[in-house]
Amino acid sequence: MKRVSTFETLSEPATLCSWCDRVIVVGKKAFSISISLKAEAFDEVTPGTMERLLLTKAEKKVRMVILPLQSPGKLLGKDALFPLCSRRCGMALQRALRAEMESSQPDAPP
Ligand SMILES: [Zn+2]
Repeated sequence: MKRVSTFETLSEPATLCSWCDRVIVVGKKAFSISISLKAEAFDEVTPGTMERLLLTKAEKKVRMVILPLQSPGKLLGKDALFPLCSRRCGMALQRALRAEMESSQPDAPP
């Protein structure tokens, strides 16, 4: 069964929380949510970089790490990761992502 996102321990060094922008202290237990992206998303993002993802429903921009091609997460079928300072932020982000997916529709033509 495929899950949209999972919690896992963050293996990267100090970074900022995707949700609240607080610094994630090194060595402290941290969380992250990883997701799979559609193939066409890679026309816009580059593996190994940090992107800002706009969540229109939450009216918020969140930090998203595009996993490098050789990363362990990539081998598990994940493409991007959201670093998080706490489970609370993880829950908030997960809710926002879900709302975003439920409402996702193709962009209206200008
Ligand atoms: Zn946070």
